[in-house]
Amino acid sequence: MKRSLKTQLSLNIAFVALLTVALISVVSNVFINQQFEIYVEKRQEQRTDSILLDLEQQYEEGAGKWNAEFLHAVGMRALYDGYIIKAYDPLGETLWDAEAHDMSACAQVMEDITRKMRERYPGSSGRFTVKNYDLKRNDQSIAVVSISYFSPYFYNDDDFRFLDSLNAVLAGSGVFSLLLAVTAGWLLARRVSSPIRKTAEIAKQMSGGDYAVRIEEKTNVRELDELTRAVNHLARSLSEQESLRKRLTADVAHELRTPLTNVATHVEAMVEGVWEPTPQRLSSCLEEINRLGKLVSDLENLAKVESGNLKLDKTRVDLLELAKKTLSSFEADIAAKNLSVSAEGCCPEVLVDRDRIRQVLTNLISNAVKHAEGNGAIRVILSETENGALLAVEDDGVGIPRDELPFVFDRFYRVDKSRRRFLGETGGSGIGLAVVKSIVTAHGGVVRAESRLNEGSRFSVSLPSCQKEHEELRPRQTHEEVESCYAKFTF
Ligand code: ADP
Repeated sequence: MKRSLKTQLSLNIAFVALLTVALISVVSNVFINQQFEIYVEKRQEQRTDSILLDLEQQYEEGAGKWNAEFLHAVGMRALYDGYIIKAYDPLGETLWDAEAHDMSACAQVMEDITRKMRERYPGSSGRFTVKNYDLKRNDQSIAVVSISYFSPYFYNDDDFRFLDSLNAVLAGSGVFSLLLAVTAGWLLARRVSSPIRKTAEIAKQMSGGDYAVRIEEKTNVRELDELTRAVNHLARSLSEQESLRKRLTADVAHELRTPLTNVATHVEAMVEGVWEPTPQRLSSCLEEINRLGKLVSDLENLAKVESGNLKLDKTRVDLLELAKKTLSSFEADIAAKNLSVSAEGCCPEVLVDRDRIRQVLTNLISNAVKHAEGNGAIRVILSETENGALLAVEDDGVGIPRDELPFVFDRFYRVDKSRRRFLGETGGSGIGLAVVKSIVTAHGGVVRAESRLNEGSRFSVSLPSCQKEHEELRPRQTHEEVESCYAKFTF
């Protein structure tokens, strides 16, 4: 049978408390009883010593005789304390005999003590035993005293009362601490189980698709706080993922619908004979289909970088070398537009995902090439900043209108839709800069766009450096090294 966490915890705590209280009670009881036995045995020895001293004092040395009246008083007092005394003079004459004096009182005392001790300690082998003492004065034997008492020790009424009240106190405090422990355990269990139960409820709601739920409860248990924070974080990211997925699906449907409808309308016109299927029209349709294919692969790419769990395979990367390589992959387009390009500057090596940063460079340079005027210039500039490296891609192309600049990083946002002509010219899908932003953000960096219409644009990416680790690995660059890495790259 499955128990609730609260019941399980309460039961465990109650069990441990019960065990502890029982153990403490038993150990303290045994210890106190042992000490008390030792004390009582010592007290009995002292009592026999004091009886012997009292008896000895009743001997009148000058007269050579005993004070019978006092002997009687000492004997009777000892009898009521549980000591049965017989005293004989050195010749064997009885001086005083408790049994002879009051047989029934002696029997009563013996019976009382034996019964009480047997009741308390049923298995004990204690019984009345006789001990003989030679009473001397000035090394002369004056009497032989035999004292009979319950051996090895016996308790009087006061002792029994003391032991009873001690046991009552121990039992009472045991029960009280048990109740206290069980209550404290129950409260603790409730405190621990309540946030866990809430968290489980929230997780259940989340599994049902409700991502707006949050755990508000605060606890002062660190692990529980971490758990609730983690679940809240999970709910937040699931909700973000969900809205991202919804937006993406809507955007994708919207983006695909227009070109598909256009292609369908044109093909239909040709099928129905309204339009002549000239090779030019057919190749326009093919171009549009290719563009759709590119859009799909762009989307794939975006989905990957926006999935939230983009894994970065970070290595030390020389950004200048990477920029030069990326620029050279655009050689044909650059030559077609007769652009002049350069990569210059110097920056520390950065710890980045080489392929992803290459994609950032590719998207930025591709945009610059696309929007550059013929005979224009494109510059990739690298510099070192306080926090890392700054990578800028500049062009002197058409620029971006001021009011459109804040949206260029939005998914599917295209500046001035008329720039892209349907059928015939391959326009962008408005995804490139969204991919750039996602990758840079995943690296902990920031991307900014500056532009003036008809003057040009500048996209700058700042990346946190691995300067500290870098400095540990190799000494700072010499002046020559700095100079050489500023060498311009042009073609
Ligand atoms: P696309 O894939 O369509 O190029 P991007 O996300 O890369 O989409 O760019 C978004 C918009 O920003 C594009 O419509 C483009 O017009 C504009 N843009 C981007 N880079 C530049 C640039 N260097 N010069 C002028 N306009 C640019």
